[in-house]
Amino acid sequence: MKFGTKLIHNGNEVDPFTGALSIPIYQASTFHQPNIENIGKYDYARSGNPTREALENTIAQLENGVRGFAFSSGMAAISSVLSLFSAGDHIVICEDVYGGTFRIATKVLNRFGIEFTFIDASEISEIESAIKSNTKGLYLETPSNPLLKITDLREAIKIAKRNDVIVIVDNSFLSPYFQKPLDLGADIVVHSATKFIAGHSDVIGGLAVVKSEELARDLYTIQNSFGAVLGPQDCWLTLRGLKTLKVRMDVYEQTAQKLANWLLTNECVEEVYYPGLKEHPGHDIHFEQASGGGAVLSFTLKTIDQTIRFLQKVENVAVAVSLGGVETIVSYPVKMSHAAIPKDVRERLGVKDTLIRVSVGLEDVEDLIASFQKALI
Ligand SMILES: *Cc1c(COP(=O)(O)O)cnc(C)c1O
Repeated sequence: MKFGTKLIHNGNEVDPFTGALSIPIYQASTFHQPNIENIGKYDYARSGNPTREALENTIAQLENGVRGFAFSSGMAAISSVLSLFSAGDHIVICEDVYGGTFRIATKVLNRFGIEFTFIDASEISEIESAIKSNTKGLYLETPSNPLLKITDLREAIKIAKRNDVIVIVDNSFLSPYFQKPLDLGADIVVHSATKFIAGHSDVIGGLAVVKSEELARDLYTIQNSFGAVLGPQDCWLTLRGLKTLKVRMDVYEQTAQKLANWLLTNECVEEVYYPGLKEHPGHDIHFEQASGGGAVLSFTLKTIDQTIRFLQKVENVAVAVSLGGVETIVSYPVKMSHAAIPKDVRERLGVKDTLIRVSVGLEDVEDLIASFQKALI
């Protein structure tokens, strides 16, 4: 079955109890047990809820894993997955990781004795040389944020397997429609479902999918212990958003490609970062492991004045944090996602004061380009 069909018909689209074509929101915290000798499948909703189960089974199928888990945010998913590790373990992690992941690693998990080494994962040799005798995890994001750097997942996973290291990939930027890390050999995929999966800027949620029964058992224990589960209403919204993932991603990609090509021709623009551009340094590797360039692109302007003017003038888009909605979202990393990073570190990472990130939406590309044209002066 191809992906679009699987989105709609994956065995979780019909309520098994009533036949309803929309899985009901089982707004219940506990479940009556008629037979006390034999407690039913559901007992308490932190441990299991039918609406959440439908979402968890769906994402497991879409990522080709053995089990899925839904959490109250992307960060709850990531924090829960990182709780699989123990004091004394070492994790190699990409330096341009999502800011919240950087924070949990350096402000929380380090206090529990988990050690992190940050590397430029687009340089495969940096991964190899960071591995130590106690390295247990490799944590990757590709394309990365906000410069869309590409990590060669197959090569990175090869190194990890040789060293018995668990590979975790944050797949939020592409979704399983464009990239399936488990098929490439990764062990765990995590998502901010807030972004493309739910897709409508109306829910905060997180998902994780694991490749083995052993990881499934361990992560279930953590999910049930930590308790950062996604509520049934938000599970329903996420399931509903997910059904249109393919059509949204297809339109986003076409628009992003056209917008990136157009930006290259604009005289205010200095540089454009989009994996779909032939000029992008990771282009070839990206298309060996993913089937589309995605919806997110970044660009730099020649001056800060132009940058501020663009953000104030650009119309029919949202200027906001986040990505993956039906509306085009323009963000300014130095004042938003990367504001907490000191300027010198930011500059070393290439996050300039003139950098703008765009998550393209479903507007007509001609209108989007016209709006950008007017604001780029
Ligand atoms: C937004 C985001 C997260 C965090 O997800 P929340 O749902 O906001 O907790 C993690 N990783 C990436 C790549 C993201 O874009």
